[in-house]
Amino acid sequence: ANTAVTTRPALAKLTTGNIPATVASDLLVPLADGRVTDYANFDHGASAPCLESVRAAVEAALPSYASVHRGNGYASRITTQWYERARAEVHGFVGARDDDQVIFTRQTTDALNLLARAVPADATVIVFESEHHAALLPWPAERTTRLAAPTSHAAAVTAVADALREAPEGPRLVVITGASNVTGEIFPIAEIAAVAKAHGARVCLDAAQLAPHRVVDIQELDVDWVALSGHKLYAPYGAGALIGRADWLNAADPYLLGGGATAAVTSDATVWNQGPARHEGGSPNVIGAIALAAACAAITEHREAIEQHERSLLARLRTGLAQIAGVNTYDIFGADADRVGTVCFTIDGVSSTLVSAALSAEYGIGVRDGKFCAHPLVGHLLANSPEATAVRASLGLGTTREHVDRLVSAVRSLATNGL
Ligand code: PLP
Repeated sequence: ANTAVTTRPALAKLTTGNIPATVASDLLVPLADGRVTDYANFDHGASAPCLESVRAAVEAALPSYASVHRGNGYASRITTQWYERARAEVHGFVGARDDDQVIFTRQTTDALNLLARAVPADATVIVFESEHHAALLPWPAERTTRLAAPTSHAAAVTAVADALREAPEGPRLVVITGASNVTGEIFPIAEIAAVAKAHGARVCLDAAQLAPHRVVDIQELDVDWVALSGHKLYAPYGAGALIGRADWLNAADPYLLGGGATAAVTSDATVWNQGPARHEGGSPNVIGAIALAAACAAITEHREAIEQHERSLLARLRTGLAQIAGVNTYDIFGADADRVGTVCFTIDGVSSTLVSAALSAEYGIGVRDGKFCAHPLVGHLLANSPEATAVRASLGLGTTREHVDRLVSAVRSLATNGL
């Protein structure tokens, strides 16, 4: 059960057309039998390796950064400019409205928790159970309606409309994912947003999985907030953003109490800032913001090539897996749904944990197995399966046709011969 042997291949950076090279293409992994092959990373859905242009932006900033918004020193002023330019880049990346604000957070989880703290006390929140836990769990339990995972786009829109019709008077928030982290399928965002607007509700889009692969345009989709993570956008860990309407956020208590969030403090009173600073207490992750913005710029520049690259590899992967007896793939909406480069599958008679271990040790392929921080959805998708967990293969910029072919042939071997 082995792929063609590669002795140390040249360390030439892999580029796909005009897509920026990724650091991941340099990775060589030892296999169980002592051979070495290049690493086929099918775990972009968890975290994507850093782009060269992101590394360059970080390297340029490292020698001379200083604390932002605090000092009048030259380095402080320059770093403040970098930080605010990064904010503007992220604002543009999602096509935000002029008066939308960008709040830098640690990642999507942090961004959604921040919004959850800002939801008005009398608001109703509506969310599908198919969400990643980061979008499912932060909302106040007693005022949140959880909808069953939908089975079609039309059913998803109808379920939101029905829930809004039954919701009590007052502010409402609909939370939806852009693309499922389990199946890659894209939700009918604009349609759900239209129904939400018709019922006076606001919409928060969890774009963690969508933004790296497709354009996210706040205005075109007519959503109110977007949350995203730098580490899924080919930037390092530690920076994400919540982008959108300022009103709920300015009315909420600051997310972190401390310096930076304050306009004035006396012995008996504290006046909190309005705007992003209100929720960015403490010294911010300037380098993370610069990295995130550099990733946004590179992705925007290469958007079309990225999409083409991923669509063709995904089609190859799905076609390959569909031809293997004993391999089951899972979809929320069905095989024809538009999706980003993610496939969720099981192999009859082989546990997903062993599948992922064998793919790693014998083929140098990195996938993820388990329930992908979406336990209700995986329970729903595998309801008729003897398996409790699945394998997720998620591709990205560093993925090549050889990686896809290696994965398909490895899965065929595991499905045919077992372990
Ligand atoms: N939402 C979705 C759809 C995700 O896939 C993830 C991460 O996998 C998250 C939210 C949480 O992202 P983070 O771990 O960067 O906070």
